[in-house]
Amino acid sequence: MTARNAVRDDFPVLRREFDGQSISYLDNAATTLKPRPVIRAITEYYETNGANIHRGKHRLSEEASDAYEGARVVIARHLGAAANEVVLLRNTTEALNLVAGGLDLPPDARVVGCLDAHHSQLLPWRRVGQLELTRLDEHGRLDRDHFRTLLRGRPHVVALTHCSNVTGVVHPVAELVAEIRAACDAVIVLDAAQSLPHQRIDVQELDVDFMAFSMHKMLGPTGVGVLFGRSERLARLRPASVGGGMVDWVDLDGSVDRRIPYRFEAGTPAIASIIGSAAAIRYLEAQDTPERHRHAQELGAALIGGAVARPGVRLIGPPDSTDRIALVSLRLDDSIPTGEVARLLSDSYGYMVRSGHMCAQPLVSGMAGGEVLRVAAYLYNDVSEIEGFYQALDELVSWIA
Ligand code: PLP
Repeated sequence: MTARNAVRDDFPVLRREFDGQSISYLDNAATTLKPRPVIRAITEYYETNGANIHRGKHRLSEEASDAYEGARVVIARHLGAAANEVVLLRNTTEALNLVAGGLDLPPDARVVGCLDAHHSQLLPWRRVGQLELTRLDEHGRLDRDHFRTLLRGRPHVVALTHCSNVTGVVHPVAELVAEIRAACDAVIVLDAAQSLPHQRIDVQELDVDFMAFSMHKMLGPTGVGVLFGRSERLARLRPASVGGGMVDWVDLDGSVDRRIPYRFEAGTPAIASIIGSAAAIRYLEAQDTPERHRHAQELGAALIGGAVARPGVRLIGPPDSTDRIALVSLRLDDSIPTGEVARLLSDSYGYMVRSGHMCAQPLVSGMAGGEVLRVAAYLYNDVSEIEGFYQALDELVSWIA
């Protein structure tokens, strides 16, 4: 018998039942659940403070500003970055839009991306330049020869997806960055929304210019996205929003922007959620143990093993657990309505999984040929839940077919 996963007690949502049935949350690539320390940090801010930041000189405002800036330091340390290289935004999407819209690119800028890019990485670059996507092999790994060919076109930007939210493949970003640096002087932008929740990333070591991620996918609250940018790159980036909070001085003729990173943080931010993000980072760091990594491997192996053992299910991604997160996307028979299966898995069995195109339609349409069912595990899940999920899927499929 496997030992009980002790962290489960920290996640109050896991106690919920629907019609007397316990639930299994396996939609972690969409967003993760929040542990008590994160919920407590948010509640504490509202119960004991509630003031705005960087606005007043009164005691509550100064206290809130300190907690907010303290959270920035916690996030920066987690990445190996300086605090002024960390911009606090709303989500990954906003961070990538800020970079795409704020770089001083020529109108015909060439951008190299990956075919497994999320829409939040695809669309901002397509809006500002000519986007060419690196092909993938049949399992979703990058075609390195094609990548090198695209680099020969000397792109202005290379927008990398670290980990696909469809295949779960983690691309070898360190090697890709070395190839880019050797080939051209492109700005390197990394979407780490699906990788950072599962692994530590040191931005200095990785040598990327920008990196974007969302706290809600790593135990933090919704409403907080982070953009890491090298200081010299941020210094030349145009803010997307202008207004209060991002200026030092305004007169009738003009204005003077605040120093970085504040010039990118116009308006009142999600103060409580940003304070809660620091609690999420601390929680994750405490979980960064060999046991936890072993557990993640077991979850991944159970997900892949269950898929490859079922002839009626097509796994969209590699059939092994090397360099990937504990996530599988499954294509069912064309005659089976995927959305309906997801609803029944939830309503009849308590399994919360995602169905659809996963905001990566070019990849899912091409590789899967239609909607997929995505099962994404995280540290509070157990292998028994994955086994239960596959049993429920078997029952449903035999019932519907
Ligand atoms: N990039 C990837 C790889 C994602 O999986 C997601 C969300 O699923 C995003 C970007 C967008 O994240 P957000 O909705 O928090 O902006």
